[in-house]
Amino acid sequence: MRILTMTAGLLAALFVAATLLLRTPAVENALFEQALANAFSPRQAALFDGDGLKVVFCGTSSPIPSKKRAQACTGIVAGDRFFMVDAGTGSWETFAVAGVPADKLAGVFLTHFHSDHIGDLGEANLGSWIAGRPEPLSVYGPKGVETVVAGFDEAFALDNIYRTAHHGPEIANPKTAGMVAAPFDGAAPTVVYDGDGLKVTAFPVDHGPVKPAVGYRFDYQDRSVVVSGDTSYTQSLIENAKGADLLVHEAQSNRMVAKMRAAAEKAGDTRIAKVLGDIPSYHTTPEEAARAANEAGVPWLVLTHLTPPPDNPVAKRIFMRGVSKIRKDHVRLAEDGLVVSLPKAGGVRFSRLK
Ligand SMILES: [Zn+2]
Ligand SMILES: [Zn+2]
Repeated sequence: MRILTMTAGLLAALFVAATLLLRTPAVENALFEQALANAFSPRQAALFDGDGLKVVFCGTSSPIPSKKRAQACTGIVAGDRFFMVDAGTGSWETFAVAGVPADKLAGVFLTHFHSDHIGDLGEANLGSWIAGRPEPLSVYGPKGVETVVAGFDEAFALDNIYRTAHHGPEIANPKTAGMVAAPFDGAAPTVVYDGDGLKVTAFPVDHGPVKPAVGYRFDYQDRSVVVSGDTSYTQSLIENAKGADLLVHEAQSNRMVAKMRAAAEKAGDTRIAKVLGDIPSYHTTPEEAARAANEAGVPWLVLTHLTPPPDNPVAKRIFMRGVSKIRKDHVRLAEDGLVVSLPKAGGVRFSRLK
């Protein structure tokens, strides 16, 4: 007993000593400098190893807020560059915090112009500009993308002038500050990008009354990924996903949305109840997404744009209820920072941004 008491006393004394030591300026400085060395070291070189396609989930939520998830964003890495499919609020931070080299951002593909898909467009442009992106940022999208790009450019025009005046044109080059809209019709499958081995095809989806709305298919080194954008269950997506290695599909649990609506009504929040009553028809349930993946014959399905964002194990189970009856395996929920690699030699690997 006495030995136990002495040991406990010794441990307590050691704890106090360690705490005091940690609080000395010299130790604090050393810890801070080590953290900075890690932050400034190139941490994401593996993403750009040139081996096949990689998908980085930069935002996996929807307009329903989540502390754990940014809004809609799917990163696509091909060779020494990366692209964003949509730029929802908070999504640029996923790349920035992980130390993804921002100057490698080579373009943004917008699926449609709902706020949860465009909120961070200005941040993505600004961050990649200051990091040394060699050209103005290309923003691809169906008709209407010109309006979105012009608006962001105008909103950031004064910021850009301040930064050039402050840091000089070597860092904040006014020639590369803005964005360039690359609109396309969106009514039929169209190759909207073809360069350095990467082919990107836009195809129409059904997000009515939002028109046009598109999904994208990326083909590179004989690997392919399809990103659905916002859509209800639609044959167009199935047709365009055939032969792909991975389907990244939006998902909304209408079971959970119905319960949210009932709770809003009970609480007397009629405005939110009305909105929750409007949305089931223009999204895809997890079960429908599983059916679409099966019908397209896609080996892997990852669900994103999760409505509502299922941020605990119970919510995840409710969200995925019924899916295993349709698709037994090779289906999972995305989370921010998830990386799915499709190496040239085949197979699928899952990891996380470190
Ligand atoms: Zn939408
Ligand atoms: Zn959306």
